Amino acid sequence: MERPDPAPGPGEIVVEVRAALTCGTDLKLLRRGHPKIPFPLTLGHEFSGVVEAAGAGAPFVAGERVTSAVTAPCGACGPCRAGRANLCQTAFEEPLWGTFADRVRLSSRLVRGAVRRLPGGLSFEAAALLDPLASVVHALSRVPPVAGGTVLIAGCGPIAAMNVSLLRGKAGEVTVAGPEPPRLLILEEMGARTVRLDEAPSGEAIGPAVSGLFDLVVDTTGDPQVASSLVAKVVPGGTLLLFAGMPGGAALSADAYRIHYEEVSVVGSFHYTPTDADRALTLLAGGRIPVEVFVTGRRPLSEWAEAFDDVSRGGAMKVALIP
Ligand SMILES: [Zn+2]
Ligand SMILES: [Zn+2]
Repeated sequence: MERPDPAPGPGEIVVEVRAALTCGTDLKLLRRGHPKIPFPLTLGHEFSGVVEAAGAGAPFVAGERVTSAVTAPCGACGPCRAGRANLCQTAFEEPLWGTFADRVRLSSRLVRGAVRRLPGGLSFEAAALLDPLASVVHALSRVPPVAGGTVLIAGCGPIAAMNVSLLRGKAGEVTVAGPEPPRLLILEEMGARTVRLDEAPSGEAIGPAVSGLFDLVVDTTGDPQVASSLVAKVVPGGTLLLFAGMPGGAALSADAYRIHYEEVSVVGSFHYTPTDADRALTLLAGGRIPVEVFVTGRRPLSEWAEAFDDVSRGGAMKVALIP
């Protein structure tokens, strides 16, 4: 996917892409669209690169290594003023998209509020993990600390693995339930206990496959039936975290007795704030995130379709597309 050479207008920058990662959100966009992202567009939103040209007034210069959050909150709307910039009412009017390309032009809004310089020593591939990692940082900030507690994660993709790497050393035990043996092996090497499902997690499969109750249960599947069944897996007083997006109108069906008499909380998490993104970049720069766990393959940009096959059929976590 290539677009004509973009030139930076006032406040904009053009970035030569050095690494762009596959993400389930791109795959979801291809399959069913996204309530917050308009079509048509070039795919790709997890990336890093080198500033090629900066428009008038942009606070970057050619040659700087950068990555970017997907949105820049406005700072002025109700949610922004309430400290919930991830819910900014206008941020998704100008999202970062289109990094499956040789170069990408970033709007002045993104340049002002989303683009970040790479700390020295941070690789392009590691820096491209900023967006998913910030989402997980945000999600875990939505739930009580799990100090010593037990965690169940439904799904075994990169988001599950990022949860595992952030919960490592904090949670007592993290259990991951999913279908793909290559991914489960990676998660075991990270210290997680794994439960192998015969196929993608379904509402019926996960209950019998996983025994016990957990202080924190995280849904990374975005399947309303799976999420509904997970309510039964939470300890009294514990939390079900809905990480993955679901289509508008999707309904959960759960035993309300558990939510009232047993104070099981159901908490959603969407996107991230600039503070979450800063924390994610600090974690990446500090070597806290094992990049090789998340970027498990590399392909030239022209093979973007094959890269999605690697992810959806081959058990790869993420594939880096290199222009
Ligand atoms: Zn993503
Ligand atoms: Zn706002």
